[in-house]
Amino acid sequence: MSNQPKTGVERYVQAAGQLAQQRKQDLAAMRECRFDTIAVHGLYTASEALNFNQGAIIEPVYLCSSQAYRDSDEMEAALSYQIPTWCYSRIANPSLYYLENTLALLEGYGFGGEVSACATSSGMAAIASATDPFLNVDPKNPHQKINFVSTCQVYGGTFQQFAVRKAQERGIELRWIRNSADLGEWEKAIDENTRFVYGEMPSNPGLAFFDLKAVAELAHKRGAPMIVDSTVASPALMRPLTFGADIVVQSVTKSMTSSGFGIAGAVISRKNITSTFGPEEMKADFAMYLKTLPNRDNGQNLSPMNAILTLNDLRTLRSKMDLMSRSTLTVARFLEKHPKIERVDYLGLESHPLHTLARRYMFLVDAEHDSAYGSPTNRYGHLMSFRVQGGAQAARTMFDGMRRIWRATDLGRIKSVATIPAISTHQQQGEAGRELADIPGNMIRLCVGAEHPDDIIADLDQALACIDGKVSRPVPSTFSVGGASSARLVD
Ligand SMILES: *Cc1c(COP(=O)(O)O)cnc(C)c1O
Repeated sequence: MSNQPKTGVERYVQAAGQLAQQRKQDLAAMRECRFDTIAVHGLYTASEALNFNQGAIIEPVYLCSSQAYRDSDEMEAALSYQIPTWCYSRIANPSLYYLENTLALLEGYGFGGEVSACATSSGMAAIASATDPFLNVDPKNPHQKINFVSTCQVYGGTFQQFAVRKAQERGIELRWIRNSADLGEWEKAIDENTRFVYGEMPSNPGLAFFDLKAVAELAHKRGAPMIVDSTVASPALMRPLTFGADIVVQSVTKSMTSSGFGIAGAVISRKNITSTFGPEEMKADFAMYLKTLPNRDNGQNLSPMNAILTLNDLRTLRSKMDLMSRSTLTVARFLEKHPKIERVDYLGLESHPLHTLARRYMFLVDAEHDSAYGSPTNRYGHLMSFRVQGGAQAARTMFDGMRRIWRATDLGRIKSVATIPAISTHQQQGEAGRELADIPGNMIRLCVGAEHPDDIIADLDQALACIDGKVSRPVPSTFSVGGASSARLVD
């Protein structure tokens, strides 16, 4: 008798317990699987398909704002988060559920502890979501003069969000780390008023890299969480949680959605993060806290359609990152020997000053279980940059001469893309900011895609020949349909 639920709400909570049990078992089973299997299946099992999705073998995409309930009791149980629910797509959605669980499993691969994820509308939203909760006023110490510490070699948007949106507009002290490979600099910057320590590695586009294990220890000694932007590596090559990070942010837009179908981001965290500041529930499960409270209220959610497009790309993440890494190394070796190239930055090159450090962190996941390799194998990703001899103008001439490689401010694509950071991604931070981050005008950022590297090398070779006019550059057409230039035709 005493086990009988007394109210309708309790009845729903009891029934939901069975589903929760099943999902716990599915999670435990999937955590026993290898990276590729997790990427392909996540938590979408046959029983999920048969119970909730008419047996479809691919995850559902409900382009729907809300979920209906049987009665007021189920609604009450759902909206108080007592039963699994997706209630309203700003808060949760089935497509997001499967994506978030896959992201948590992949980022937590080899970590050993429980990991959770919260998907966001973009990588920038992920960075704001991961950092803003640490910058709130402490009711017990409202006049505390807080600060946060970050590598200065970060994505251009991150530089703006930190330097303008947080430091300039909100008056929060920002301490840039200029040389992130220098541990002494980190040690001096982090103190008891540091709310979080942030680093991007490898950085876009400068490929800065730091000793994450040591920096995370320094952060933890002062009670601050370690947050890492690991977009360039992706979990196929590096998983910061396994090296002591508390929170990982991803621009899911990039390597994870290599097809280029949309913008997405994610915050992935371990349980019980280090932080002297913040409510207990925030520290216990940071990503879930974000999902159910701040991000619910601020609304930086991901659309279900984008979630499903990402899931589709994620399934082959490991093999794509392997292929693109190998091709990038081949291309980097070609450029390194080219007389018109001043310098090549790629962590995979033995000549790179951070190569030995990166070699301790960046490995193709599961290479030791792959018959093609059979032992741990370093891979360094698809991002490289190079500097053209003759300054900014020569770099522009070469850039304009590319025929196969796309000129776009993008990275991690299945198609090779290149940009000039000084006039694109890092334009807004100005000359002084670019100097700080070491982004000269003759630097070209190149992300090698899944084409055959011979064809990319041939394209680069003929583009470099454009510099002294031996090859003439293609003539661009003036108007682009649907772009700003065609809009100008109308007014
Ligand atoms: C692109 C990028 C971001 C921002 O991500 P969006 O999805 O474009 O908002 C953040 N960090 C890094 C390293 C990036 O390359």
